[in-house]
Amino acid sequence: MNGLMMDTPLTIQMILERARTFFPKKEIVTKLANGVHRYTYKDFYHRVAKLITVLDQLGVKNSDRVATFAWNNYRHLELYFAIPCSGAVLHTLNIRLAPDQLAYIINHAEDQVIFFDAMFAPLMKQLKPHLKSVKQFVVMDGGAIEDDDFKALSYEELIEAAAEGSFPELKEDMAAGLCYTSGTTGNPKGVLYSHRSLFLHSMAMTMKDNTGLCEEDRILPIVPMFHANAWGMPYTSAMIGATLVLPNQFMQPIDILKLLIEEKVTVTAGVPTIWIGVIQLLEKEQFDLSNLRVVLIGGSAVPASIIDYFDRKYSIAVLQAWGMTETSPLGSIGRLKSYMQSLSKQEQLAIKTKQGIAVPCIEIRAIGDNGQVIEWDGKSLGELQVRGPWVASGYFNTDERAEAFRDGWFSTGDIVTIDAEGYISIADRAKDLIKSGGEWISSVDLELALLGHPKIREASVIAVAHEKWVERPLACIVLKDQFKGQVSSEEIIDFLRDRFASWWLPDAVVFIDEIPKTSVGKFDKKQLRNQYKEFKLPEK
Ligand code: AMP
Repeated sequence: MNGLMMDTPLTIQMILERARTFFPKKEIVTKLANGVHRYTYKDFYHRVAKLITVLDQLGVKNSDRVATFAWNNYRHLELYFAIPCSGAVLHTLNIRLAPDQLAYIINHAEDQVIFFDAMFAPLMKQLKPHLKSVKQFVVMDGGAIEDDDFKALSYEELIEAAAEGSFPELKEDMAAGLCYTSGTTGNPKGVLYSHRSLFLHSMAMTMKDNTGLCEEDRILPIVPMFHANAWGMPYTSAMIGATLVLPNQFMQPIDILKLLIEEKVTVTAGVPTIWIGVIQLLEKEQFDLSNLRVVLIGGSAVPASIIDYFDRKYSIAVLQAWGMTETSPLGSIGRLKSYMQSLSKQEQLAIKTKQGIAVPCIEIRAIGDNGQVIEWDGKSLGELQVRGPWVASGYFNTDERAEAFRDGWFSTGDIVTIDAEGYISIADRAKDLIKSGGEWISSVDLELALLGHPKIREASVIAVAHEKWVERPLACIVLKDQFKGQVSSEEIIDFLRDRFASWWLPDAVVFIDEIPKTSVGKFDKKQLRNQYKEFKLPEK
């Protein structure tokens, strides 16, 4: 017997309507070069409704892909809603990708229109001859461009001239958003979100035991809107009527800290490298962070030193989340259970540095080398698999990596242990594990320990070829400015000595000025490995 419940479609339109109906006075704030742009969800709604007409005039049809190439700002947010609410698919392009990768992605997605921030006009012009499907360019913050070889319509002029359109009826399983993975192996692959998956993900973000976002929050996503939908925060904020604060291109530590203070931000989010930079500045100058309650960090393992710093100095909770573009991204969250509050600070910190337990709706398991599901004993290693209503069931328009989606589970490529309480701990990406004499060494564990060294700013540990052991670890270290040139390799290795078995210790340490970053701000180990592929380790 079926239940007798209404079959209401869960769509982005529903989120938009809710923002307009219940939170018309709440604000969206965008940092500008001089001051901020500030308007309400009501103003926002009317511009989104006009965009429905604009998209129609541009010839955008149901399911067409419409791309954005923009920072986190209010116009980008308008497109976040207008494109899916018109029945088309919002394709968020990563502004940090190389031109040939961008051309590949745009052609693969068959984008029809690209909306871009004016500062990217030269890049759009450069890309144009290589794009096969794009019919229109629209410049979001400036006048129309009328060059001989490149034309773009003006977003503001289009909105100005448009009447508000009516929203078409949508089904919840229709595609709403498209985001390509950073593609460190093979071509970038598209993840196609549905209205339903984005809606359910937004609801999960509001659960108190997850990220617990709520109406009174003032939310600053530092994570870009092209990185897994800014971790769902734009849609979630509109659903709950939270104030959304958008940093635009102003993402230096000083800009972030000023915006946190001036806009009384309560929740902010970004990858660990952002907070490493912010903490360096906090160590030098005084800032009043009394409004901030949560720093949500994910995308890479979060060093205990970051969690401890915010807790000790500011009583601010760092919440570690694990996720992927393929998981929308929220998969697990590193919260303590209530009975863990009685543990010592040190024990609590050890739990918080794990990736946490799966959020409701997401199921997890890990598969060991022998193909069997591993025990949840905190020791056995296996590849993490997940399934749930906001986990991809395949990649867009390709059979590449179809093997990642077997038996209704998605294989993440993350090698993990899971403990008896269900806490996931990521040892490494499968391709980053260091294979020494047939045994695995976790580069993540070594890095997290190194990042706890008071003189170290950034650390990454990579595998280097070794005649006898196949691979051995090399530690790449960036010292804090005031300690440059004053630390020896021995000091670094000694620091690790009583924390790890001797065969885990790096064979060598190199001191560098900066660790290369990926297009979403993570340490780029692929580039480091290339850089050091001829590195001669000292004889042992
Ligand atoms: P992306 O799709 O670019 O967000 O990358 C997803 C990958 O980032 C995951 O498969 C993990 O390897 C890594 N990742 C995300 N969150 C965490 C975390 N909290 N700790 C460790 N690694 C993470």
